[in-house]
Formats: sequence, structure tokens, C-alpha cells
Amino acid sequence: MMQCPHCGHGKHQVIDTRDRGETVRRRRKCLDCEQRFTTYEHIAPSLLVSKRDGHREPFDSQKLLAGIRIASVKRPVSSERMQSIANYVEDQIQRLGRAEVTSEMIGNLVLDQLADVDQVAYIRFASVYLDFNDLSEVRSEVDRLMGRSELNGDANGRFEPPQRTSAS
Ligand SMILES: [Zn+2]
Repeated sequence: MMQCPHCGHGKHQVIDTRDRGETVRRRRKCLDCEQRFTTYEHIAPSLLVSKRDGHREPFDSQKLLAGIRIASVKRPVSSERMQSIANYVEDQIQRLGRAEVTSEMIGNLVLDQLADVDQVAYIRFASVYLDFNDLSEVRSEVDRLMGRSELNGDANGRFEPPQRTSAS
């Protein structure tokens, strides 16, 4: 929460708002010490997300968080963790400085984070975001994830793909 620079109080009143394109300047009055101060809010230019089918829509951080939340239902992923993943992903894509990103890029960033947090949430998110067509695709994603955990756990750093058993 924004605090009064004079006394640290958290409640203030907006007395004037000036929209300057990418910046909004607001004059505020502290409800405690009644001194005035100015804040600037920077509005990120709207970022478009292109879907696989070519459809575009504005980036929506709430939607991103909702996707992470759905994947993490009944899993040991705290809401703080979900929020921090969403924040991290949004930060990463904003840093690219592009006007448009693909839903796949966003999905992969989320997956990189979820892989270190919870494997079930990872697979759930992957199955929605990567738009799996059938179970064999889910299976190959599971194999990729298993390979990743073996990679993480392998002391000599060599990547060994998971062994496939013939009985299945
Ligand atoms: Zn104050």
C-alpha cells in the first residue's frame, strides 16, 4: 500500500488526476497529517497475447493467475507462491519489451516455475496450456518432467532419459 511520504499513513484522498498518456499523475492529500503529495503511475502499454489459432487478446494477469490456481487445486502450492509465479511470468514477458507474445511463451514460463514447485500442478497446467490432443502427448510431457527431475538430482550432471518399460 502506498504511504504518505510525510507521516507514513496509509489512507489518502485523490484531489487531482492528470492523465499524461503513459503516466498518470495524481495529487493526494493524507487523511492523517493532511499534507499533500504527488504520485505517478506508469501504465504499461497493452500487451497482446497471440493464441495458436491466430486469435489475439490483451494480456490478462488475473487470467494467468486463475490458470495457475486451477492447476494447483488441492496441491501444496500456497496462494503466495501462485501469485509470485504469476508476477514473475508477467515481469519476464514485460521485460521482453514486445507488443505481442505468444500464449505458448507464457505457458512455458509458467511451466518452468511449476516444475520446481509441484509436478501434478505442472502436468495439469501443461495439459491445458499446451493443448494436448491425446494421452500420448501427456505421456511425453511426463517423461520430459521425469527427465528434468533426474537431471536435477544427478550428481554428475548427465542427463539420462527415463527408461521405457515394454509392459504398459
Ligand atoms: Zn501524512
